[in-house]
Amino acid sequence: MSGLTDRYGRTAVDLRVSLTDRCNLRCTYCMPAEGLAWLPKTTLLTDDEVVRLVSVAVEELGVREVRFTGGEPLLRPGLTEIVARTTALEPRPRVSITTNGIGLTRTAAALEAAGLDRVNVSLDTLRPERFKELSLRDRLTDTLDGLAAAAEAGLTPVKINTVLMRGVNDDEAVDLLAFALEHGYRLRFIEQMPLDAQHGWRRDEMVTAEEILASLRAAYTLAPSDKPRGAAPAEEWLVDGGPATVGVIGSVTRPFCGDCDRTRLTADGQVRACLFATTETDLRGALRAGAANAELADLWRGAMRAKKPGHDIDDPSFLQPPRPMSAIGG
Ligand code: SAM
Ligand code: SF4
Repeated sequence: MSGLTDRYGRTAVDLRVSLTDRCNLRCTYCMPAEGLAWLPKTTLLTDDEVVRLVSVAVEELGVREVRFTGGEPLLRPGLTEIVARTTALEPRPRVSITTNGIGLTRTAAALEAAGLDRVNVSLDTLRPERFKELSLRDRLTDTLDGLAAAAEAGLTPVKINTVLMRGVNDDEAVDLLAFALEHGYRLRFIEQMPLDAQHGWRRDEMVTAEEILASLRAAYTLAPSDKPRGAAPAEEWLVDGGPATVGVIGSVTRPFCGDCDRTRLTADGQVRACLFATTETDLRGALRAGAANAELADLWRGAMRAKKPGHDIDDPSFLQPPRPMSAIGG
């Protein structure tokens, strides 16, 4: 099988699939308060089309890991069925979702029964008022209950993604780690990236991986984990001698592009070689025009061959991609 290898020798085996660009939160670093011009319904892949393209990735292109995301993937009515059909593929990929957790209390058990392996839940604050300011919705309890439901359903290890913003929640690094340690969740901090629809990201306002580590070291001892990092974006640190760990994803200041093993499919059926790609390859059009799996696989290979070596955020010529994170699938 010829897989998704690019001109720099990287092979993509990890597929992120956005199931919707819509969301029930409005995290300020992601979406404007009024929401966005949502993708027209006719352009969205149907459940059958999603499964068909995922099956091409798994069966023809060597993808071993599938993560459903969005927007908010729990808003997709067919999610459980899509997960069940994905975990039935051969060879069976590992399947997870990235979610804000709202609604997991109702769906975690069914998702686990459908074969879902794990969840990543995004949580940026433990303070209800701050959650409301940060996401423009008063839903902290729903997210915390969603985390607990995921753990109870066995969707483990439950991981938490946190984005810290200067003057907003950067005083909560230690509290969030204490919370994660107490509940057995694996916390990962992610540097804020220039992918917001509002184009409000500023390099000098971003809380860096270095600053996050310095905050944590005020309360914990951190030692580099001896587990090989591979293509994982998070640098893992043993907390107080371990076994618990905390991850820091320095997407901007410590880029891991050289080891990237990802490929992305948007909710409207476009392949993206990178979060920061400025070009896309249309699989939806080919699929709806009757392309066979082998043709779709060839288009996908071509898209990945064009992958750039890095995101170049620090290059003065860097241009933010037209699609925001919520429509790419984070
Ligand atoms: N709605 C789901 C959620 O929040 O987990 C899935 C989609 S969201 C776009 C996926 C992840 O991207 C979340 O962990 C979120 O915090 C992160 N994210 C969104 N915008 C970001 C940005 N500008 N920089 C870094 N991470 C971002
Ligand atoms: Fe929605 Fe996730 Fe974006 Fe927040 S980060 S607005 S939960 S898509």
